[in-house]
Amino acid sequence: MTEIMLRVCPVCGKEPRVKRDQSYEASGFGAWCTIQCKPFLRKPHLRVESGKAQFQRAFEEAAEAWNRRADEQVGTMTFEYFDAWCNDRAADGRWGFLEALTCTDIMLEMRDTPRRKRKEKWDELNANNCIFEEIVKPTNEKIKDAEAVQKAGEELGDAGKTD
Ligand SMILES: [Zn+2]
Repeated sequence: MTEIMLRVCPVCGKEPRVKRDQSYEASGFGAWCTIQCKPFLRKPHLRVESGKAQFQRAFEEAAEAWNRRADEQVGTMTFEYFDAWCNDRAADGRWGFLEALTCTDIMLEMRDTPRRKRKEKWDELNANNCIFEEIVKPTNEKIKDAEAVQKAGEELGDAGKTD
């Protein structure tokens, strides 16, 4: 089984939290998994839940829903999301050479901008959400396609093991 990589929150770019409801499991009705972003003292930006007989299945279903919605809900991309997204791609390498170069240039430009001017700079660089539309969104779609192919391959592999 492959471990499912969770996307960062589409708004704040933080890693989501996975919660396992131990008391629900103790009651014997099955397992409950919640995945959410948790901003301090505020409502989650995104939250998904799933209930299944076993926790692993509940987690897998919740993780798929989280990733799908995280990809869909970026909207006008925040710098926080972009920053976290670049870190993830640098770690997993799932972007093209040109995308990596362009994103590195953007990050350097942002780092050279004084903190108080960053919001303005970001709005200028990402005018009309262009960084999202031209780099992040197509890359997210490629990642999703690759994951679908991988999942189909695993299911075929599993089916072959039944005899
Ligand atoms: Zn968030």
